[in-house]
Amino acid sequence: MIFKQLLILIALLLIVGHAKAGGWISSGGENFHDGKNPWFLKGETIRYCILHSDNDFSMSETEVEHSLETALKYWQSEFSKKINSFGKKINFDLGSNILLKTSGDCKGDEDLRVIFGYSELNSQEKNYLGKDYKKYLGVTVRTDYETTWLRGKGFIYIAGDKGTNQYDAKEDIIKNAWEHKELLAWALIHELGHVFGIPHMGNSFMSEIFMDLLVSKYYYQDFKKLGYESFLSSPEKTQGCTYLPPESYNYFELDLKVSCLRGQWKSVKQFDIYAVYNDGKEELVAQALGLNLDLKGIRSRPVSYLKLTSEQKVFSASEINHRSLVPGPFQERVSKKGKMVILKSLKTYPVHMEVSPESITIISEVNNKLETVFSYNSSVTSALGQMLEIMP
Ligand SMILES: [Zn+2]
Repeated sequence: MIFKQLLILIALLLIVGHAKAGGWISSGGENFHDGKNPWFLKGETIRYCILHSDNDFSMSETEVEHSLETALKYWQSEFSKKINSFGKKINFDLGSNILLKTSGDCKGDEDLRVIFGYSELNSQEKNYLGKDYKKYLGVTVRTDYETTWLRGKGFIYIAGDKGTNQYDAKEDIIKNAWEHKELLAWALIHELGHVFGIPHMGNSFMSEIFMDLLVSKYYYQDFKKLGYESFLSSPEKTQGCTYLPPESYNYFELDLKVSCLRGQWKSVKQFDIYAVYNDGKEELVAQALGLNLDLKGIRSRPVSYLKLTSEQKVFSASEINHRSLVPGPFQERVSKKGKMVILKSLKTYPVHMEVSPESITIISEVNNKLETVFSYNSSVTSALGQMLEIMP
């Protein structure tokens, strides 16, 4: 096995405060051609360990471990989804990875070291973060990449929130962020996304401003309450109340006591719509049926890529169609066409749906006019959107 020792190659840095956030940082001179590859592929066993400093961290080691497990499970379940029957040759199959936590302290040969608190970093890692280390809230660094078997190694560092080495909590950043286990799980979901090859992208929790918002005193309460949404596919069930335009009351033949609508996928071809009453009761009021992909409306894109090296032995030439760039898991962005059946009167209307992880919009033809009759937006995306609106 040829071990290509690289100096620290990737850093997806998140900086607290006003410093420049995100982007790729290099210690200089490396070849970046495989720098964005996921660290692991196809059902491999990933050995990880945890280092935790009581002096630096509000949360105990057990609690920290629990948040990490939540984040790991989140990505495993995401990558297990079979959402795209098109455009997919090899999706890395990250859902079948076996995650193995090593017992005791990190020994150094683990694939992934998750480090909670500055005191637990070794001198090389401390050097890498430099003297301005307090600006970082979290960072993911790949330290080695093995080009035959396409495996990476490295660490996730989460800055502590107490003691002398805590992150800079100035201006609108909260102190002691890690007293809130939900916030730590969110931070780990973001950082693990980088381990799995996802760069900063989109308007959700892989956005480059996400970590700043997560610990912002204006928004952290929201993130404590928001559920972990799917990154790759449209939500199986929409959460919360969706916007209900006045026209929808007529269209769905709703009682005025209905305060909002909730949608739920029954199959890839069926989306059910429930009316939610003021008292919380729900009633099935309509069904979008026979939903077929509109081939002109497919905008799904891979969330990561795998750049192959000439030394790689994981894929055969025919398996990858003799290419050196292989798309990773796809994010669902599609249009669908079908018909809406209103259950009260059994009236039917043609419908057009726009579907993505962040939103679902249903446009229907009513008396030769197009109307938006159902509109869902993810709470995470909405929270990020609000923040961007108030920026100058
Ligand atoms: Zn990031």
